[in-house]
Amino acid sequence: MAYLINCPYCGPRTTDEFYIKGDASKQRPDTIGDGTLDTWHDYVHIRENVRGRMAEHWHHTGGCRQWLVVERDTVSHEIYAVTPASTWATSRKGSSTAARKKPARKTAARKATGRKTGGRAKT
Ligand SMILES: [Zn+2]
Repeated sequence: MAYLINCPYCGPRTTDEFYIKGDASKQRPDTIGDGTLDTWHDYVHIRENVRGRMAEHWHHTGGCRQWLVVERDTVSHEIYAVTPASTWATSRKGSSTAARKKPARKTAARKATGRKTGGRAKT
């Protein structure tokens, strides 16, 4: 069932033009230290399967190619808000990208586990 998303850049468009990336409630971890691996695991892999109102990342693939955050009801498909993802991210408490530290190339967690981050595994 297609319905309309009011893209802030293009105006009303059908959902057929969009790609849904999923839950936008997670905030990217910005620290390195104890528990970092678990924090990153949760950030990358763990998602809630919300029945009701939730915020999701949507990409306007068939239009302006901008990332949006669509707040909608997953049951009724009622749209509450459509916001450019950058605006939405900076409006979240404590999410200033300028204040984030650039992560080191090799994290403490990777050192502790001894796992390689790329290349082929030895056989
Ligand atoms: Zn658009």
